[in-house]
Amino acid sequence: MMASHLPSSYSTRPEPFVDATREQWASWHWQHQHRLRKPSDFEGILELTDDERAAFVGGAQRFRVALTPHYAALIDPRNPDCPIRRQALPRTEELRQFPFELHDPLAEETHMPVPGLTHRYPDRALLYVSHHCPVYCRHCTRKRKVSNPSTAASKGQIEAGIRYIAKTPQVRDVILSGGDPLTLSDERIDEILASLRTISHLDVIRLGTRNPVTLPQRITDGLCDVLQRHGPIYVNTHFNHPAEFCADAVQAVEKLIDAGCVLGNQMVLLRGINDDPQTVMTLNRRLLRHGCRPYYMLQCDMAQGITHFRTPLKVGLEIMDHLRGNIGGVGVPDFVVDLPGGGGKVELVPDYVVGRERSEFGEVIRFRNFQGEEYAFVDVSE
Ligand SMILES: *Cc1c(COP(=O)(O)O)cnc(C)c1O
Ligand code: SF4
Repeated sequence: MMASHLPSSYSTRPEPFVDATREQWASWHWQHQHRLRKPSDFEGILELTDDERAAFVGGAQRFRVALTPHYAALIDPRNPDCPIRRQALPRTEELRQFPFELHDPLAEETHMPVPGLTHRYPDRALLYVSHHCPVYCRHCTRKRKVSNPSTAASKGQIEAGIRYIAKTPQVRDVILSGGDPLTLSDERIDEILASLRTISHLDVIRLGTRNPVTLPQRITDGLCDVLQRHGPIYVNTHFNHPAEFCADAVQAVEKLIDAGCVLGNQMVLLRGINDDPQTVMTLNRRLLRHGCRPYYMLQCDMAQGITHFRTPLKVGLEIMDHLRGNIGGVGVPDFVVDLPGGGGKVELVPDYVVGRERSEFGEVIRFRNFQGEEYAFVDVSE
């Protein structure tokens, strides 16, 4: 595996953690126990803006704030618009409500044949196994339930979800989701994967996790043994910005690959954070370097309290246009919109057709390429 020249988050750990040992820092339990949750926890780390303070008062009850020391160490404390900070610290914009916003934008709760399992596409099912995450992303589309312990999936509920999959042979692909499934213990993950592996009609087991970004210490040898034993596991990570890469994240990604996982990244397009072609290019190059393929660039959806993160669709299309000519196809994700109301995902592509004319052989279609040059392509008739 390629050595990383990036520093570890340990070397940039904020002042309150200077006495933490390398072993403590490397422990995911220690990281969990030392999460930053309230304004006073940020003393010596960064100066909260007045707006952030106000957001803590108004919004934290609705959607909790939590940051691992690891993720906090990636923040540039001098920059109030630091992309890491903006993803993890609340702003009062979250409290604004718009009439078009939806409580459950993807109608995940209405496509539930059993509680805690969304079955929308014939062949795929989403199984929610935890409602906790190491860091609560301010742009989370599942704000309605993530971070809320009262809605967490019980063991019995997960078992009922697995029974549903077992008796539904058209389901060939199951996605463990949440919250973050890696919030569960290795033993629980082992049990869930083992039960799923007894289902002969399942081809694909996926795991959606942001731990490689927010708590890379969670990717332990023990977890990797579990994943390897039940592999191949398709792991979808959630890197949104190149600054989220540090030696620890790289090591987590490489360990997952060593454990036989197949990695893809689901980036969410976020205003002021990653909504320009250069940032996405840099991120995708990083991902490819370490063996993680950009899978989706997701349009931020119509959930409550995340409208300030949304970009016009046009911005995503411009990024796609730029990627197509400037990075190999393996670095070009699909740009998708998850349709409100449970319509599912649709892919948006830039329009490359600039004109159509008839000819005696067939229609002549004029395309433009990534440099804006035009080329005629003669189609054949049906
Ligand atoms: C996104 C999603 C999936 C997985 O979709 P892919 O396009 O296969 O990655 C499955 N079920 C639901 C409900 C989803 O929202
Ligand atoms: S890790 Fe995923 S589920 Fe958890 S808060 Fe972030 S976006 Fe939401």
